[in-house]
Amino acid sequence: MSRPGIAKPTDFTAPDSRFPFPHSPTPTRCQTEPKLFDFTNGDHTNGDRAATEKRLEKARTACSSCPIVKNCLRWALVNKPVTKVGIWAATTPGQRTALRKRMADRLGPDWIDVLAAQDQARRERAAAARHTPLPVNQARIVRLDRAVNGPMPVHRLITPERQQHNLVRLTAGLKAAS
Ligand code: SF4
Repeated sequence: MSRPGIAKPTDFTAPDSRFPFPHSPTPTRCQTEPKLFDFTNGDHTNGDRAATEKRLEKARTACSSCPIVKNCLRWALVNKPVTKVGIWAATTPGQRTALRKRMADRLGPDWIDVLAAQDQARRERAAAARHTPLPVNQARIVRLDRAVNGPMPVHRLITPERQQHNLVRLTAGLKAAS
């Protein structure tokens, strides 16, 4: 498996579509320097254990400052078929095997399905929260506030004086409307 974002035509195993690879705001080190992250259990480049350890240390350090390390680890754990080799989220293949065992001990043998169901429930809750309309009274106040005080400023803070001023205008508007 090549690193996400650097597809190779030889990739035949698809990752689990329920767990999209996390988005990184900037290219990750494993994308820009994939060789650093090459590793198979028992692999010690040309028998040079010290050189391999040094390279792995560099990869681990890169992962520890990666903005998506937490979700990368999750992705690597649920996608065993495509992460059998290499350093992912600062872990070796052997360490990931141990972590998968711990996940199975904690959540049962179907732990990946459990995580997928948790993600789905979280997404549904977030969608419901986004689409739940305000109660009629609150919606009326929001509309009136926009009418008397204008739209909420996006890029500047509202000073306490301005808040007080807005409140006075909103209260007057509510009184006039009742
Ligand atoms: S945590 Fe490491 S392996 Fe994962 S995306 Fe970042 S640099 Fe790559």
